[in-house]
Amino acid sequence: MTQRLHTCMLCEAVCGLTVEMDGASIGRVRGDPDDPFSQGHICPKAAAIVDVQGDPARILEPQRRQGDRWQSVSWDEALEEAGQRLAEVQRKHGRNAVGVYIGNPTVHSYSALLATPFFNRAMGTRSRFSATSVDQLPHMLAALEMFGHQVLLPVPDVDRTHFFLMLGANPVASNGSLMTAGGISRRLEELRKRGGKLVVVDPRRTETAEIADQHLAIRPGTDALLLLALLYVIFEEQRANLRHLAALTDGLDLLREIAGRFPPERVAERTAISSLAIWELGRAFASAPSAVAYGRVGACTQQFGGLAAWLVVALNAVTGNLDREGGFMFTTPAADLVALATRTGDRGHFGRWRSRVRGLPEFGGELPAATLAEEIDTEGDGRIRALVTFAGNPVLSTPNGARLERALSRLDYRVSIDLYRNETTRHADLILPTSFGFERDHYDLAFYALSVRNVARYVKPLVPRPPGVRGDFETLLDLALSVRRHGGGRKGAAAGVTLRAARMLGERRLLDLMLRFGPHRLSLRKLEQNPHGIDLGPLRPHLVARLGGRRMQLAPAVFLRDLDRLTATLSKPATNGLVLIGRRALRSNNSWMHNSLRLVKGPPGCVLLMHPEDAAARGLGPDGRVRVTSRVGSVEVPVALSDEVMKGVVSLPHGWGHARDGAALSVAAAHAGASLNDLTDDHSVDSLSGNAAFNGIPVTVTRA
Ligand code: SF4
Repeated sequence: MTQRLHTCMLCEAVCGLTVEMDGASIGRVRGDPDDPFSQGHICPKAAAIVDVQGDPARILEPQRRQGDRWQSVSWDEALEEAGQRLAEVQRKHGRNAVGVYIGNPTVHSYSALLATPFFNRAMGTRSRFSATSVDQLPHMLAALEMFGHQVLLPVPDVDRTHFFLMLGANPVASNGSLMTAGGISRRLEELRKRGGKLVVVDPRRTETAEIADQHLAIRPGTDALLLLALLYVIFEEQRANLRHLAALTDGLDLLREIAGRFPPERVAERTAISSLAIWELGRAFASAPSAVAYGRVGACTQQFGGLAAWLVVALNAVTGNLDREGGFMFTTPAADLVALATRTGDRGHFGRWRSRVRGLPEFGGELPAATLAEEIDTEGDGRIRALVTFAGNPVLSTPNGARLERALSRLDYRVSIDLYRNETTRHADLILPTSFGFERDHYDLAFYALSVRNVARYVKPLVPRPPGVRGDFETLLDLALSVRRHGGGRKGAAAGVTLRAARMLGERRLLDLMLRFGPHRLSLRKLEQNPHGIDLGPLRPHLVARLGGRRMQLAPAVFLRDLDRLTATLSKPATNGLVLIGRRALRSNNSWMHNSLRLVKGPPGCVLLMHPEDAAARGLGPDGRVRVTSRVGSVEVPVALSDEVMKGVVSLPHGWGHARDGAALSVAAAHAGASLNDLTDDHSVDSLSGNAAFNGIPVTVTRA
């Protein structure tokens, strides 16, 4: 038995792992106590990496559909067919007739992250979608509009702060998001030990709220109103102080004037938080030695997600907590995507074009995922007729999945790159397998850039890939090359030369170059010599350098234009109907790990939480099954009554709904649950950013 090192690639916490190996066979997986960052922390999901990697349901050779059957084909044959069919669609109907959907696991693979820009550029389609617009897009929009760069995202300095205000975030269950912080529970405990305070704002008393000093239950979709009222308190009490950023910031007076329209007394009823509590929270935040406000999924995947994301940054900035120890800080990652994108002139963009059917804005070259179904099923020039999905299951993870599922059957051709035949890839004509887990080397390109401490760790593969499986980088680039060979994709020799050059260089060499030219002048060799990882020190203030001569915008016009829409909600009559919010569980990783028995066994995970008084008002008993119905669909689920959700709110976790014929996930099917996204509405978006609004969906609940 030998001990080998790896890194968990499942979530943003990036925990170091120690893996017991007996020859090529993988034994127990534990946390690596010598990882300077995660310090031995892991969660129950880490042990399931081997379940996915060795899952008998995993696709290990390219699969072609033959009616209802699937047939193994060679890689040459598969790439030839996919290239030819995608190119044919592009030649006949234009480049945008091929859509591309990139799923969330892509960000956990540096190989995929480095390949996708080459792939997208070579395909030349504007019909691009990803998990960004069902998740963190509003935060990226705030970064673009305020700092001039869409991936210049501040993170909470959790290890040094004295006051942590969380809106719509539940890191005790999620392990942190847009905040890489292995062992977040320990870090929050230490915050409290040093006399700091944790306040959680959420419609549900979440696992994080349970350990907080204060939980404020907020009506879903009203975080922007609360944040404006907190700014009102700061300005009213003359506590605004931008510190070193004052000289390079525009918009302070405008922000003061806007916040002046939202006194706590005006928003209290709508937010369901008393004006007194808002005044006290504003004062406590502003007077703490250091403080950080942080908003996550609950605050940004809602109808005013863009405004909420902007106001979170604004609150930190105005109280002097932006770019300050213990506040909202910027990382200095060893492989610096911000610097690379700045050098290549790609800081990001927003609204340069709009979606064909609904006119929603592009962001960073991608259209909102909430428009994917209608872009397929609405006739007209530019209709999507073929689709490539990569590591994605949008039928379960994007709003109104049932509509998308119907739309998929209208496509002329579908190719999916995935581990599994899941609820989306079962509609494919061709599935290309990909590597996973300990078969891969790993450097966390995305999440070291969002880490609460500067760290770097690179690990080599522990086992070889199965012979019929290829890596992300080569698959994406070979597919793009095949499309070009057949006359599809972007025209011009340059795109082909770039693709071939990247393919020859390979992802490992590209990563090495990024490390060598990065701020810490590291290399893969140096990281290999330090297999537990290298601690590059605490975050340090450096926004001024990051702005590179630009000015920070505290009141960007795109957000100001959306304020009337928010203000209008204040005069809407209250209803006594129910609204639906999502939920995350520690043992569940979106939709794609439910075929691991160790993660799904035990009591059912997909249960509707409902306040006892709401149940009583509808004549519902303490348990049993209920029917939940929204504008777009209806599901039947078990119900549990609990005052952990506020009155008027029901909560269902996402990622479930595995009872669809044709998917080859027998364990998941036996623990199917219902899909939250058979209830969420593709027409419920944040109309400013185009991001999906999963939270705050009106529903009815009746006895099943
Ligand atoms: S917290 Fe995240 S990174 Fe750490 S072991 Fe669990 S899933 Fe893996």
